[in-house]
Amino acid sequence: MAYQKPKGTADILPGAVEKWQFIESVARETFKRYEFHEVRTPIFEHYDVISRSVGDTTDIVSKEMYDFYDKGDRHITLRPEGTAPVVRTFVENKLFGPEFQKPFKTYYMGPMFRYERPQAGRLRQFHQLGVEVFGSENPATDVETMLMALDFYKQLGIKHLNLVINSLGSKEDRETYRQALVDYLTPFKENLSADSQKRLVENPLRVLDSKDPKDKEIVVNAPSILDYLSEESSAFFKQVTTMLDALNVEYTIDHRMVRGLDYYNHTIFEIMSEAPGFEGAITTICAGGRYDGLVEELGGPATPGFGFALGVERTLITLDAEGIEIPCETEVDAYVVGLGEATNIETLKLVQSIRDAGFVAERDFLNRKAKGQFKTANKLNAKVVLTLGETELAEGKIQMKHMASGKQVEVNLADVHENFKKQYDLVVKSVEG
Ligand code: ATP
Ligand code: MG
Repeated sequence: MAYQKPKGTADILPGAVEKWQFIESVARETFKRYEFHEVRTPIFEHYDVISRSVGDTTDIVSKEMYDFYDKGDRHITLRPEGTAPVVRTFVENKLFGPEFQKPFKTYYMGPMFRYERPQAGRLRQFHQLGVEVFGSENPATDVETMLMALDFYKQLGIKHLNLVINSLGSKEDRETYRQALVDYLTPFKENLSADSQKRLVENPLRVLDSKDPKDKEIVVNAPSILDYLSEESSAFFKQVTTMLDALNVEYTIDHRMVRGLDYYNHTIFEIMSEAPGFEGAITTICAGGRYDGLVEELGGPATPGFGFALGVERTLITLDAEGIEIPCETEVDAYVVGLGEATNIETLKLVQSIRDAGFVAERDFLNRKAKGQFKTANKLNAKVVLTLGETELAEGKIQMKHMASGKQVEVNLADVHENFKKQYDLVVKSVEG
């Protein structure tokens, strides 16, 4: 019986994993320039941490959680997102304390789990790069963090992006707006999808986020939340757009955009790929916003927050759509060809000496003939090949061949062990100058 991976998951194999490593390293370099530091939280989390943050009536909590009771009868879930766990750790470790930099800027990367219907760019185990900023009410934080997301994509060479922003205002603004929205939607109730009929009662703003085509038609003429913002909230949003303008950042305002998590207020944003070759229906690659009440909700002192998460899988789709190639060639410096069983131990010693000298070395393990071993060396792009036969072994010598030029020299085995770099430089320099 041969198994296949669980539905909605992927194995990431050599040849593809280099792209992941590249994306991760670009993220680390980018976030570092903005003074963000990494945190790593557990892959599983208390169910309550997620349900209280993300919201009980959201799709994530009501339908998509991988939750279970452990052997100690604790209600546990695989984490569906990163913000709630990071807020939990922020409160638990008192990262709001005076010894920590304010605002506290942090990032995470890793797998998230949601029981969704898998399709292109939608998996059950997927990977996010996310960032959070705690302790700044300054709209410059909103803008800086959005700029950092755009910067990350720019570093990857991604060009066709649309930054979409909106404001959800304060909790009070949303109450007023909620009523206006219910008043608007109620006459259409029968025409809404079953899910949205439920949302209309439990969490009407969620109807705006529906992916159902009929729902989408109905919400086209829904009242705009931006008309229901208090003066303060409007002024805050105005500052955000003024700063974006001042930095010459292009953006679109979409007053119908809400987010799939309940903890947001004021600024929210999404980044969409507009690459002509983008595959599939989903084009949102990054999403986030402000969440000023969340730290308090999870038992910490009132602390404003702002963050985003972006999908690694969707970043890969975007790279493909933009035709960006990530270099992932393997380069072997030295391949050691050993001929005859008597050379087995010395060959082992040789590759170890070469590796000790800081070079990438490989050898044959399958007793292949010289021709086969040279073929492998070529496939691996080996710069030099060292050939050791039984005669050479007896004489303490080895042939070293520079593959590009075909130039071959004989060197002492002892010299290779003692200072491989010197021998390597000699043969490489003699032909490459
Ligand atoms: P969507 O509307 O596409 O379901 P979302 O609003 O649920 O997205 P968030 O929870 O805000 O997404 O997550 C942020 C980012 O994480 C998304 O923009 C996307 O890149 C990625 N993401 C979310 N869910 C998945 C998934 N199931 N598979 C792959 N990537 C995902
Ligand atoms: Mg979703």
